[in-house]
Amino acid sequence: MNSQTSAADSPIPLLDLRAEWAAIGAEIRAALDRVFASQQFILGPEGEALEREIAQLCESQASGSQFSAPPFAVGVASGTDALTLALHAAGVGPGDEVIVPAFTFIATAGAVSSLGARPVFADIEPGTFAIDPARIEERITPRTGAIVAVHLFGLPANMEPILALAARREIPVIEDNAQSLGARYRGRAAGTLGAFGCLSFYPSKNLGAFGDAGMILTASAAAAERLRALRNHGETSRYISAERGWNSRLDEIQAAVLRVKLRHLAQWTAARRAVASAYNAALGGVPGIHTPQSPAGAEHVYSVYTIRVEGSSAERRDRVRQHLASRGISSVVYYPVPLHLQPLYSATVPGRGALPESERAANEVLSLPIYPGLTEAQIARVARAVAEAARA
Ligand SMILES: *Cc1c(COP(=O)(O)O)cnc(C)c1O
Repeated sequence: MNSQTSAADSPIPLLDLRAEWAAIGAEIRAALDRVFASQQFILGPEGEALEREIAQLCESQASGSQFSAPPFAVGVASGTDALTLALHAAGVGPGDEVIVPAFTFIATAGAVSSLGARPVFADIEPGTFAIDPARIEERITPRTGAIVAVHLFGLPANMEPILALAARREIPVIEDNAQSLGARYRGRAAGTLGAFGCLSFYPSKNLGAFGDAGMILTASAAAAERLRALRNHGETSRYISAERGWNSRLDEIQAAVLRVKLRHLAQWTAARRAVASAYNAALGGVPGIHTPQSPAGAEHVYSVYTIRVEGSSAERRDRVRQHLASRGISSVVYYPVPLHLQPLYSATVPGRGALPESERAANEVLSLPIYPGLTEAQIARVARAVAEAARA
């Protein structure tokens, strides 16, 4: 037998959804058969049931003394659309400014730009990788239409000071919760803290569809009703449009797949946490390597497991990544270029050096394989390879 095919150095992908499919493929096929038999593909019972079930998930996560009612949930075609429609519903339009973190996926700012508004980038907190509450107020102007907090990598942003500041200045907060469904902040579900919470069901997210899908959470019945019109050409009743809308609906096939997967989400989240704590234990003492933080009151769901490789440039991090690749281990840099340095925005915003924590994160972060089913032996192999490279 060739040594390349032995378990000891067989490739470890960043994400492997095949075990998931093996476990629940039959359940998903049965759910899809139900949709095929109904021949109803857009705005039907599966989508409505999914909206109810996601709303319940977010309610059941309320704990402690603070009562939290279930939010309204509105399915849309993607996480990006969730952000776009939520921003629009919050009143953001052409010429407005929206404060967003500089270290996030491009869609957070892209949704702002697509409305003719301008993203205003704020730096992040190094511990959470999320927008730094202390860097928001200096960015507020009379044109500020919203603040977007991103719960990055599965960890909620430091919401309390953000919500307090936003309430004082009467600016709506929108949560980009594409990466952190199931995470909690002080007992409350991420995505239910601001005016709108935006979810993505892109296939690689913690709850992934077999295509694109997204959802918006809101505590406001009126806002939910408006979002239902906005996702469907502004229709308030059949063929009657009160305002311009979008075609952005979560279809029945995706909803049926997501409902099956939702039944397993808690178990998968527990498995991710177990992988993360094994990594934390194995990497905790490695010089120059910083494992992800989980501040008191925040419950991390580890949609990705992101370490920092300390360095004044990306060179050390890139060396670790190359070493992992030489051992058959996949890793990825989420995200190599902060948004204020993207070609798309570089002409309109302050350049290099302006947002030091975002720039440092882009040089240091490295996301390691994490998924339910990653074995202890595989985790040990990844950790060993990281330690070898860090000590080299
Ligand atoms: C995935 C993601 C989005 C976009 O979601 P899509 O469903 O791919 O449109 C937005 N923001 C963040 C932080 C994401 O990770």
